[in-house]
Amino acid sequence: MIKIYNTLSKQKEEFNSLEQNKVRMYVCGPTVYNLIHIGNARPYIIFDTVRRYFESIGYDVNYVQNFTDVDDKIIKKANEEGKTTDEIVDYYIKETLKDANNLNVNPATHHPRVTEEMDGIIKMIEILIAKGLAYEVNGTVYYHTSEFPEYGKLSKKVLEELEAGRSDRIEMTDDKKSHMDFVLWKPKKEGEPFWKSPWSDGRPGWHIECSAMAKKYLGDTIDIHAGGEDLVFPHHENEVAQSEGANEAPFSNYWMHNSFLNIDNKKMSKSLGNFKTLRAVGEAFGYDTVRFFMLSAHYRSPLNFSGELMEAAKNGLERIKNAKINLEFAMTHTKVSDMTIEELKLAQELPSLESRFHEAMQDDFNTADALSIIFELVKFANSYAKEGATESFVKQVYELFMKLTDILGILYTSQNTSEVSLTDEEIQAYIEKRTAAKKAKDFKEADRIREFLNDQGVIIEDTREGVRFKRV
Ligand SMILES: [Zn+2]
Repeated sequence: MIKIYNTLSKQKEEFNSLEQNKVRMYVCGPTVYNLIHIGNARPYIIFDTVRRYFESIGYDVNYVQNFTDVDDKIIKKANEEGKTTDEIVDYYIKETLKDANNLNVNPATHHPRVTEEMDGIIKMIEILIAKGLAYEVNGTVYYHTSEFPEYGKLSKKVLEELEAGRSDRIEMTDDKKSHMDFVLWKPKKEGEPFWKSPWSDGRPGWHIECSAMAKKYLGDTIDIHAGGEDLVFPHHENEVAQSEGANEAPFSNYWMHNSFLNIDNKKMSKSLGNFKTLRAVGEAFGYDTVRFFMLSAHYRSPLNFSGELMEAAKNGLERIKNAKINLEFAMTHTKVSDMTIEELKLAQELPSLESRFHEAMQDDFNTADALSIIFELVKFANSYAKEGATESFVKQVYELFMKLTDILGILYTSQNTSEVSLTDEEIQAYIEKRTAAKKAKDFKEADRIREFLNDQGVIIEDTREGVRFKRV
């Protein structure tokens, strides 16, 4: 049984999917006008891990993450760089997908782009107007928040307080009926991209985009809606008002929000000069270290980023990587015989490690605890699954190790892992093993060793003088 902390109820709830063994999941995607920063990387990694976990226990996950490809910031960037908005958008979508891939984040089932979803967006605005939940003034359409009685239920904000809080700071424009009303559609300004609509040539507001895309790809009611906690208000609150207002059905049964990331105990901001792109951090420490680091804390806890903590994360991950190398070495240096009595006894510890891993993950995706169980397994493997152990014992340990590390997606070759952990002696040992396999005409095994070395960044070449290797 999976428990999820639901922002809507402010408590952990048992997860029940709408359809058996299926999860409909929507994660708000980026506005594509710059490289994602290290804070943005957190929800990417967290919700990818949530998805991987569901998949590992047999769920089919329909994972939707949009690209917001029309926005004031995109237009500004295009003007600054003397490019078209299409050029900006195409470039940053490509770079964002590259970043996600570097983090071992699986591609979404659907990656809708707002500019390709205008029909659904306009249709939803029409429905809201027809229901009296939206109104048009001079080509701009606003959502009429006071007509949606449950407005504020996600963020636990009371409409009157919001009104009072804002009225002294924000000038009331003539157009809006109340301060909290937000834009669903706005007319274009000179030189801006636009789409035709019944109200004006213009473009949608940010919030309506997600409501329309979630409806199209996942249906009126979805299982999980996720994003960073900074999106709870107003973005997600407005999505609830739009979707539930238009569809007359609950929008999302579970709302998951990750906490923020600080840099050296300070909020990340351009003005503080501590703004870091994922690209810079990934290249300095390895993208896999970034992934490991993000999973080392619970997603609802604030996380502090510093060079020192990244070094520590790198070392931690290194221990897990080395355990894999050791296990693979042991696999090729085993005894083929029945498990010894001692091994039989030790092997009994494996199911309990596995079930504790699942307990951690099922308790609101506690990846920090799940990682500490992986470290227990690493210790276990290093102590017992060594050269000379029996094949079936080492295999059991290896399979569990691979299964658990794969759920978290932490062991992979990321772009920047050019350093290899294998020593020259270890590589030579593999080469000898391969030569012996070839001699015995076991070409399958010989190929397996070659591929394994490739994965470690070691290329071997057969020359007349013998086998040579180089690191790449
Ligand atoms: Zn959204």
